[in-house]
Amino acid sequence: MAEAAEPGRRLWIRDPLAILAEGAGGGIVVAGTRIVEHVPAGARPAGPVDEIFDASRHVVIPGLINTHHHAFQTLTRAHPLAIDKPLFPWLKALYTVWGRITPEAFRLATRVAFTELLLSGCTTAGDHHYLFPRGLEDSVDVQVAEARDLGIRAFVTRGSMSLSDREGGLPPEALTQDDDAILSDSERVLNLFHDPAPGAMVQIGLAPCSPFAVTKRLMRESADLAARHGARLHTHLGETLDEDGYCQSMFGCRPVEYLEEVGWLNDRVWLAHGIHFTDAEVARLGGAGVGVCHCPTSNMTLASGRCRTCELEAAGSPVGLGVDGSASNDSSNLMEGVRHALMINRLTYGAEAVTHLDALRWATEGSAACLGRSDIGRIAPGREADLALFTLEELRFSGAHDPLAALVLCGATRADRVMVAGRWRVIDGQPLGVDTGMLHEAHSRLAVALFGTL
Ligand SMILES: [Zn+2]
Repeated sequence: MAEAAEPGRRLWIRDPLAILAEGAGGGIVVAGTRIVEHVPAGARPAGPVDEIFDASRHVVIPGLINTHHHAFQTLTRAHPLAIDKPLFPWLKALYTVWGRITPEAFRLATRVAFTELLLSGCTTAGDHHYLFPRGLEDSVDVQVAEARDLGIRAFVTRGSMSLSDREGGLPPEALTQDDDAILSDSERVLNLFHDPAPGAMVQIGLAPCSPFAVTKRLMRESADLAARHGARLHTHLGETLDEDGYCQSMFGCRPVEYLEEVGWLNDRVWLAHGIHFTDAEVARLGGAGVGVCHCPTSNMTLASGRCRTCELEAAGSPVGLGVDGSASNDSSNLMEGVRHALMINRLTYGAEAVTHLDALRWATEGSAACLGRSDIGRIAPGREADLALFTLEELRFSGAHDPLAALVLCGATRADRVMVAGRWRVIDGQPLGVDTGMLHEAHSRLAVALFGTL
């Protein structure tokens, strides 16, 4: 097995079928955790190499970066209470069962979601976890441990819900925590796990769930706390017209005005969805450098609307990609999300305006920018060696010509190899160290036991 984890040990990923990088037709050289050299077509690396991986069957792209997910929702996919509903009724239906989650179910849900992401070519797993019922107070710790075990890079955002339906919010009281408990745990996990250094394998952000699930005080104090730790902020915003109506009646303003009022209009913030913005709001968000995670699969499933990706990018907002929770996707396949992004944006902007390279860019460089990272998201010397390698050997690719376009247009969903920080984590389509059969059995058994209604 080709490895390149040791510092100074050089692995040449040689002569790829295609690669999403300039001047690297002959492949790339990886040393330690980083890419150190591009090899032009027909050439050899400038220096000696210790190992060679023949990539002539592979299309090589930067590892995909997921910037929005809720791993726990893998336990309630395609749930009869929630299917065929728009966001607010969907949420209210699932709130009635999510409180039943147990620590072991949550651990397995995280493992399932992160493994699915990895298999789809994702090397950085973002998760927005906002459910902390009794017994799950250490949810962030669990997610960090699972990511480390799988070897996937993680960006875990400590989510929160503190505004219950008794106080005018949407979630039931049983699923909320008080602001002080949330802020105290947020500080704890920032101190314990957040690594601001380039090459970090674990980063932590703060993520009050949405305007309709937390208090104004929590929004403000989360922003202050994140600023003190140099950490980023994340929340759901602009997902549905119901949210617009809620903000008007609860706060007397639109969601973007609310964001500004609580100190969130800056370039350390990225938002999930970002659909229902006016032209003036797009300009304000772009001018402030607020990032937006586009979640095409979820937006189509819940019929929430279409993200204004092109206008946001033109205004200055980084645009990334996310699968969103597995109860509104209902999978955790980011490569599938790339294809969905291409399709829904073509429907919005036209066939010539959005290409497969745009969709791949959102899932890589755009997502990296949302997370405030310049060490991942591209295949370039000096960047972390996070790579996804796909073959075109399934029947669905037969007859395909442009290999990079084929990945998106023919519908690649499963990577053959995935490298994170210079180490192979998926080989021959299998995640290292995970028995997917046993994981499936244990996770689905708990999903039925805890959430089954039939
Ligand atoms: Zn979400």
